[in-house]
Amino acid sequence: MGQYLSLTHNLNDMKAQIKSFPQLVNHFQDESTCVEFLEQQRWGGTPVCPHCQAIVIYRTNRGYKCKECLKKFSIKTGTIFENSNIKLSTWFAAIYLASAHKKGISSLQLHRDLNVTQKTAWFMLHRIREMMRKKSPSILTGTIQADETFVGGKNKNRHVSKKVKESQGRSTKDKTPVFGLRNEGKVNTEVVANTKGKTLMPIIASMIERDATVVTDEWGAYNGLNKDYQHEVIKHKDGEYVRNGFHTNGIENFWSLLKRGIYGIYHSTSRKHLQRYCDEFSYRYNSREIKDAERFDVSLSQVEGGLSYKQLIKK
Ligand SMILES: [Zn+2]
Repeated sequence: MGQYLSLTHNLNDMKAQIKSFPQLVNHFQDESTCVEFLEQQRWGGTPVCPHCQAIVIYRTNRGYKCKECLKKFSIKTGTIFENSNIKLSTWFAAIYLASAHKKGISSLQLHRDLNVTQKTAWFMLHRIREMMRKKSPSILTGTIQADETFVGGKNKNRHVSKKVKESQGRSTKDKTPVFGLRNEGKVNTEVVANTKGKTLMPIIASMIERDATVVTDEWGAYNGLNKDYQHEVIKHKDGEYVRNGFHTNGIENFWSLLKRGIYGIYHSTSRKHLQRYCDEFSYRYNSREIKDAERFDVSLSQVEGGLSYKQLIKK
């Protein structure tokens, strides 16, 4: 127990020391330092069996063995690092870079920065996006901006999202609709099959507390929201941007950030992976007020849950 207490102490010292990428690389040079750090982040220093949650654990040469179920596991079991031979120091560097770059980082760039193959970099980035996904979003209250947009495709006019909306069925064929909510400066996004009311309404009902204020534009899918919510409608078609102090500027700004990022860094993205890109951009946007080093710290507390290469390449 005494050993763990001193580890916690060192952990806080260490966190205070790491303020930049070179400092991070310098600190996490050897694997045992990374393992100790993760032990603190995942379990507060006391390993827990990922198979049966028992806490009586033996240390072995390569990891741990549970006294209850007798299964062996490693620091990577049950995390985004599982079944990868990539060193934790490389993972930590990748997480730092992927969280710090405001517009994201491409697999080509990460491959160059970390001296791993581009295929490895691509795989790592997808797992990091999985880490960034909100595992249990909380119910939204107060004033919530709701809006949909279309991402991808070759339409030259794609930045004029509302025009796209009106000509739906033709120009949006090669685009993927995304629905978003913004509340207290934070966004939640969901890739959706279409932007019809029967698709969007259940999402709103599951994520927003009844009687909250929902601000939307005049898109027909939102008709009827006033039954359960205070519904404020901004008439964008009439050139209106603010009504009674309500607007949807926040979520619209997020859409432009997302699109610029996807078109600029990733050039395009398939419908299959779009949710992960949305999660990545939402994550950085939602943590925009904290420093890069703190963001790294927050990221590492979310490493539970993996994503296999098979799942990734599955059609
Ligand atoms: Zn066990």
